[in-house]
Amino acid sequence: MNLIDTHTHIYDHQFSLDRNETVQRALEASVGMMLLPNVDASTIAPMLELHEQFPDCTRVMMGLQPEEVKEDYKAVLAMMEKELECNMYIGVGEVGLDFYWDLTFEKQQLDAFETQLDWAKQLHLPLSIHCRNAFDKMVKILEKKQDGGLRGIMHCFTGTEDEAIVYLDLGFHLGLGGVTTYKNCGVKDFLPRLSLDRIVLETDAPYLAPVPCRGKRNEPAFLVHTAQKIADVLQIPVEELAAVTTANSKALFRL
Ligand SMILES: [Zn+2]
Repeated sequence: MNLIDTHTHIYDHQFSLDRNETVQRALEASVGMMLLPNVDASTIAPMLELHEQFPDCTRVMMGLQPEEVKEDYKAVLAMMEKELECNMYIGVGEVGLDFYWDLTFEKQQLDAFETQLDWAKQLHLPLSIHCRNAFDKMVKILEKKQDGGLRGIMHCFTGTEDEAIVYLDLGFHLGLGGVTTYKNCGVKDFLPRLSLDRIVLETDAPYLAPVPCRGKRNEPAFLVHTAQKIADVLQIPVEELAAVTTANSKALFRL
């Protein structure tokens, strides 16, 4: 079995004491590839350092996470756009909209997101998209920008069946993570009705650890629990789920 964690932040300081062991545990748990989305200006160096240390089992993305869009976002984006020129990035992420905590930078978030969607189109790169409390605005922007050139993952998807269908119709993949294993997550109920060809797996480590590790620091090795839960819901062997989601991820990111 070979799994791909399509969204993990193991360069985060929460792994500073056992980062190498975290990667080893991932490899031992059949997670052979970890995709690292960027967060803000301060995470680029640790992310690249980790990739340099483990070039065979990690890949990097570049983008500004919506919760980190502040007054200086234009300067940060200019720096990141320059950074993208080095061609080592396999995707634009993580980008998106997050109106959960506050709306102070709503306008700036919308602008930053549109700018980064344009990068993805120009560079022909897939996106890793974060969306929280922003479904309507997200869809409006994606509909406006989708000209056949946008593709990517709605990361940590936890929405309704109708929302899933909207994203799939827009050409996007759904990234399923630890939340899918939680009792109150409705995705399990309609998952059997969706086509598997645009489902990918992720941890979003260090956040949102799956059952039975819920509440702990999440890490890529825990992806097996999410994979097993989804395979159980679909009543297929976990090896089959792994094969399909890994193939989906490889095709999307040209791995
Ligand atoms: Zn993330």
